[in-house]
Amino acid sequence: MDYRAPMASVLVVEDDQFVRSALIRHLTEASHTVRSVGTALEALREVAHHRFDVVILDLGLPDLDGSEALKMLRGITDVPVIIATARDDEAEIVRLLNDGADDYLTKPFSVEHLSARMAAVLRRSQATAAEPPPRVLRVGGLAIDPLRRQAELDGAVLDLTRREFDLLTFLAGRPGVVVARRELLAEVWQQSYGDDQTIDVHLSWLRRKLGETAARPRYIHTLRGVGVKLEPPL
Ligand code: CA
Repeated sequence: MDYRAPMASVLVVEDDQFVRSALIRHLTEASHTVRSVGTALEALREVAHHRFDVVILDLGLPDLDGSEALKMLRGITDVPVIIATARDDEAEIVRLLNDGADDYLTKPFSVEHLSARMAAVLRRSQATAAEPPPRVLRVGGLAIDPLRRQAELDGAVLDLTRREFDLLTFLAGRPGVVVARRELLAEVWQQSYGDDQTIDVHLSWLRRKLGETAARPRYIHTLRGVGVKLEPPL
């Protein structure tokens, strides 16, 4: 197993001069680019102005509590953060992982240990970056995946025709917005004119599949003479 991390741009946040220079030396020897600061506020300034692949954050900083520093970091960046803590406190570590830390190291840690954690975190963040962004539309209990052309209601897959799916997707893409019938014709049917009844028929089929009726709407609301809107049930 190769524990070496790929070359990365690293921000070391550490107030202990001895630990800090040791970290910088090891990371530089491993071909990483390193910047370092000794306070949380300097760290915030750094991440606001530079792009890093990973931040190694000491929890015992002179200006801000480590968990406070982490929250503020998370407010401006989603860069992977490895916590370096002298406290071997499980509850504290779990809380920090929940607050957005990606991993942690308990001091004193070895160079090999640090490299392994960095490699894992970088692998994860690179894998995430390569994935396409989630494109699932969610409105209440509805989840619509336009790429897979699949729609679910409360976890159950809906059996929709192509037109019903397009209609649902179009409406779910603008929840709470009243869409005129003419717009539905143009966007879903790709027709510049047509019969309102065509839309009404498809709407009523779609409604039935969603388990609702025009008289007792849940998601699809018709505004007479105006149009249709889809919104989550109250
Ligand atoms: Ca410290």
